[in-house]
Amino acid sequence: MIRINENYGKLQSSYLFSEIAQRVNRFVDANPNKDIIRLGIGDVTRALPSACIRAFHEAVDELARDSTFRGYGPEQGYLFLREKIAHHDYMTRGADISPDEIFISDGSKGDTANIQELFSLDSRVAIPDPVYPVYLDTNVMAGRSGSFHNGRYEGIVYLDCTQDNGYIPAPPHDHLDLIYLCFPNNPTGATISSPLLKEWVDYAREHRALILYDAAYVAFIRDPDVPRSIYEIEGATEVAIEFRSFSKTAGFTGTRCAYTVIPKNVMAYDSTGKPHSVHDLWNRRQSTKFNGVSYPVQRAAEAIYSDEGRAQIVELTSYYLDNATLIRNELLAAGLACVGGIHSPYIWVKTGMDSWSFFDHLLEKAGVVCTPGSGFGRCGQGYVRISAFNSREQVKQAMKRISEVLLT
Ligand SMILES: *Cc1c(COP(=O)(O)O)cnc(C)c1O
Repeated sequence: MIRINENYGKLQSSYLFSEIAQRVNRFVDANPNKDIIRLGIGDVTRALPSACIRAFHEAVDELARDSTFRGYGPEQGYLFLREKIAHHDYMTRGADISPDEIFISDGSKGDTANIQELFSLDSRVAIPDPVYPVYLDTNVMAGRSGSFHNGRYEGIVYLDCTQDNGYIPAPPHDHLDLIYLCFPNNPTGATISSPLLKEWVDYAREHRALILYDAAYVAFIRDPDVPRSIYEIEGATEVAIEFRSFSKTAGFTGTRCAYTVIPKNVMAYDSTGKPHSVHDLWNRRQSTKFNGVSYPVQRAAEAIYSDEGRAQIVELTSYYLDNATLIRNELLAAGLACVGGIHSPYIWVKTGMDSWSFFDHLLEKAGVVCTPGSGFGRCGQGYVRISAFNSREQVKQAMKRISEVLLT
């Protein structure tokens, strides 16, 4: 008798975005003439930068000729892309990362999901609340949690991100092994300062712990004092893995390209206390389970690092940031407390009521879809996330309707 992995039975069945879709569909069926504006799901809406499209086309044409055709590429990604990343994203910012410490992948979702398989099942895992659901669910699937009670899994350490700590958790006094952090944060939009990030790096060095740092929204940072990379912090190349994606940076959500940085100094330990290179473990894992990202996609990603490409992604992310400013200002003017939306496309709104009640209220009265904060964790109860990923016109229209609803 073939048996299932019973850890899957611990997962919470109602996936956030399918519940949202159901409620929206019900509303649309009942109100076929009402126009809906979606500021919910975290997907980009604008076209790929033209520099990427041109490189993409050229690479496809190379595949059309025997003389320039390419089959399997390196599992770690092509060197032309890894060199550009090491130079532009790290060396120019004083972070000492070399091309062979970078692994190109088809997305940070997969990488942040898969990385946990390198570590022992009895690792003490810390996960922020609220959070991008992937970190938690993949640890539950692997068997690192007990069952679910009162909105939380037993055996997981939750890092509360609340108004009291400015939505930025501080290291605890007790011991942790594996620590997930995400800045600029999804869903709160919070950014971490260098001194606070240094506290985490120092903690990890003291406890021989490992930080998994998700910087998917790095391209939205505008303040030069906000750290782009955890490797800008002294000592981080010993204790941190960083995940970055071209999804939000350059509109690659459907094109698929990302990368993971594992410095060669990062160690994890066996039961006798002997250190092992995490870089080597991940390389072994990727060589066995992954066959690389398609050549044209890696050429399209490389084009982001040309002068033209860099200017285009600033323009692209600034467009969404201007939407975020508009949303933020309208909400504040309507008397709602909110954070985020400054170095982030997300605005985290304190609603003064249950998250789903506010969701239903906005949907029914304004025809606007947001994301209930409670779907990201227990600390998200009472909040909603509003996304700036939409056209300026749609955002303006949505905010006009929301203001009317809130101010009457
Ligand atoms: C969107 C997002 C990613 C990127 O995922 P991809 O698989 O690269 O598209 C990673 N982390 C967070 C927190 C995100 O919101």
